[in-house]
This record gives sequence, structure tokens and C-alpha cells, in this order.
Amino acid sequence: MRKYKIAVIPGDGIGVDVINEGLKILETAKELHGGFDFEYTHLPWGCEYYKKTGRMMPEDGLRILKDHEAIYLGAVGFPGVPDHVSLWGLLLPIRKEFDEYINLRPIKLLKGIQGPLRKGPEDIDFVVVRENVEGEYSGVGGLAYQGTASEIALQTNVFTRFGTERVMRYAFELARKRKKKLISATKSNALNYSMVFWDRVFNEVAKDYQDVQTQVMHVDALSGYFILHPERIDVVVASNLFGDILTDLGSAMQGSIGIAPGANINPERKYPSMFEPVHGSAPDVAGKGIANPIGAIWAASMMLDFLGVPEAAKLIFDAMEAVTEEGKYLTVDLGGNSTTQEVGEAIRNKMRELV
Ligand code: ATP
Ligand code: MG
Repeated sequence: MRKYKIAVIPGDGIGVDVINEGLKILETAKELHGGFDFEYTHLPWGCEYYKKTGRMMPEDGLRILKDHEAIYLGAVGFPGVPDHVSLWGLLLPIRKEFDEYINLRPIKLLKGIQGPLRKGPEDIDFVVVRENVEGEYSGVGGLAYQGTASEIALQTNVFTRFGTERVMRYAFELARKRKKKLISATKSNALNYSMVFWDRVFNEVAKDYQDVQTQVMHVDALSGYFILHPERIDVVVASNLFGDILTDLGSAMQGSIGIAPGANINPERKYPSMFEPVHGSAPDVAGKGIANPIGAIWAASMMLDFLGVPEAAKLIFDAMEAVTEEGKYLTVDLGGNSTTQEVGEAIRNKMRELV
């Protein structure tokens, strides 16, 4: 029997509640599908840990994680701990150290959910491939003449040929498996080095994928396109910063940030990949048991797909969508009054029905 080693980091706030439901779903998938098993390492890292130790994770945290095939993460961050501490203390080091250079974000309106646009589930179904380790988030820069009237802050974008080409190839391959349409998010009219280079690499790589229809759009115009013509979009490839902004816009189109999943992937499988709901720790709803677990459950489904059990992944997804379509068990953010646990239970029951 295939046994997958999963590191579980529930993190802070609602991260704990939603990962709890996600784990129960994984157990149900295992039971109904058969043929695979999990070995979990539960890691209580995050802001509580930081308050006790001054670190978001132990010094050898990355070494501990390295020994796993996947990381299942809730959310980190809590009032009193600055956002850049939680980000640079855990999330970004994991993405970088494990070369999770693909951030995969399905933007799909689930059946039964009323999004903010006058569009239906058949109109909103695309994927954003975000470059996840370099670009605008390379951490290169500096400050000069601090505290004077001449103060200067520099934040340098670093786009390597290696890093740019590989994310584009990944996006083209994905488009090939879908509707064969790929949009590149650029801003080469204003960013005359980085994005001109980005466009050039895109056009070069496109030559190897003549069967894929391509489009290059400035990120500002593309934002409007998301809202006006989502039905024309299949796959979008974007740099780290542009992808970050576009995917948050995308999650709003999905009706609630509580629904959106994200995968941080090392396609070569040399290191663990990480699966997480897109939302944060949401201190305002934490501890109330009302957080929407769908983002975390969808992320669990993506994890199973990545690990190589697509039928189990599909069972989770189909059950999840059947529950939203029925509309009987929805959390407050979707206009319902069910608890986190009730939604999780409804999805597990639906899995048993559908299998
Ligand atoms: P963090 O600082 O960790 O990013 P945040 O306060 O920014 O946390 P987010 O989770 O990013 O919170 O989302 C913003 C708001 O959306 C939350 O304050 C909460 O009201 C709502 N929200 C987010 N996730 C969920 C969820 N799973 N279920 C219900 N509401 C949610
Ligand atoms: Mg936030």
C-alpha cells in the first residue's frame, strides 16, 4: 500500500478549524478509495509558537519538513505578530527552500454559489499560474540616506531566464491539457527591463507550443478582463506580484475568500509541495467555529491529485460542489448558518453517497 508522508501545519486562528475538517475529509477519501495511506507529522508552528520561542518554526524546521511528500498548511498570522514576521518566518522560506516555484490557483465558481458578478459557474473556470519564488518578491533591495529628506528605498525585481522559462513552460503544458488558451500578464509598457524580458521569454517558449493560442495583456487591463469576460479565460501565467494580486481578485470572483485553494508546487518532486487555503487566519471569525472549510478541503483535493490519486481528489471535489449546489449546508460567509464542522460532515456524507 502506498503511504504518503504529510506534514500538517494548522497554524493560527481559523487555520486550525479548517485543517481539522480537511484531515477528516482525507481520512474519508482514504477509507472509500483504498490503496493508499497517510503518515502525518503534526507541527504546532505559527504565532503561538513564535510568542513562546521568538521563531515561527524551529531552527531545523525546514529539515523536518524536507522528509515529507507534501505539506498541508492552514494559515499563519495573528494580531500582535507583524505580518512580515509570519510571512518571512515560515511561508516564504518554505516556498523558496523547497523551490515551490509554481503557485497554482484555480479560479472556479462552484455550483450553487452566487458570486459578485452576473456570471455563472460555466463562465468562471480558469487557472492562474503564479511564479512563486522570484520576481518582485526576491527580497533584493535596500534603503539609503535613512531619516533624511533624500531617503531612498529600492526593491529590485529579479527575473532569471531559468525561473521565467520554467514557469511559462508549466503554464503552456497546463493550457495544453485544458482549452489550449494562455494569457501572459505583463506590464512591459512601464517596466522596461523586467517585463520586456518576460514578454520575450514568453514569445520564445510559445514557439514550442504552436497548438496553444496565446495572448499578452497588461496586468491592469487584464484585471478588468477578469471581471468583464472571465468566460474567455483558460490559463493565465503571471509574475509573483501580479499573480498575487490577480489571484486575490479571482478569489473574490469565487464568492468568498473562504472557498479558494492554492497549491505551491515543486513540479520535479525533489522537495515537498505545499497545499493551503488562500485565506489567512481571520482573527475576527477565529474561535467561533464558523469558518468556511471549503478552501482547505479543496486544497486537500489538490494535494491528492498531486500525490497521484486523482479519483480520490475528484470524489472530494464533486462532493464539495454537490454540497454547495444543494445549498443546505453553507457557512455564514456564503449566506448560510452552518458551522465549520457541519459543512465538513455534509461533504463527507456526500462522498459516501457519490462513491
Ligand atoms: P491574515 O492576517 O492571516 O492574512 P486576515 O485577517 O487577512 O488574516 P483573511 O483570511 O485573509 O484574514 O480574510 C479576510 C477576511 O475574510 C477575514 O477577516 C474573514 O472575515 C473573512 N474570511 C477569510 N477566510 C474565511 C473563511 N474560511 N470563512 C469565513 N470567513 C473568512
Ligand atoms: Mg491577509
